[in-house]
Amino acid sequence: MIMIHSCPKCKQIHIGASELCFACIKLEEVDFSSVSDYLHHHPNANADEVAKETNVDIHLVMKWIKEGRLISLHELTCERCGKKIKSGRFCSECGVDLQKSLHQMKQGLAKRTGYFTHIDGKK
Ligand SMILES: [Zn+2]
Ligand SMILES: [Zn+2]
Repeated sequence: MIMIHSCPKCKQIHIGASELCFACIKLEEVDFSSVSDYLHHHPNANADEVAKETNVDIHLVMKWIKEGRLISLHELTCERCGKKIKSGRFCSECGVDLQKSLHQMKQGLAKRTGYFTHIDGKK
């Protein structure tokens, strides 16, 4: 969609599909390549460290992580308990727990539906 935006970074008015103006997108790309380059050499670095070392705004780094552009091993957290994880949405413990509760829920549902069919059958 082509729209008129004022760039959130440099406040310049421009027309385009994204909020950032072309110059700022270019700058972001440069930042992005330095960050991904840094991560390539320091795969265990966390977002704070990367931001500091590359002089890139931490919010930008976090944004890229959220967007899935940067696969940072250390910034993924379990959606349930907040523990740091390497991949997916939950840590292994919560994954097991969730599987269990899902299973229980299904069983509970099956029991209840069974009960209702029983009542219906009596009619
Ligand atoms: Zn701009
Ligand atoms: Zn967890």
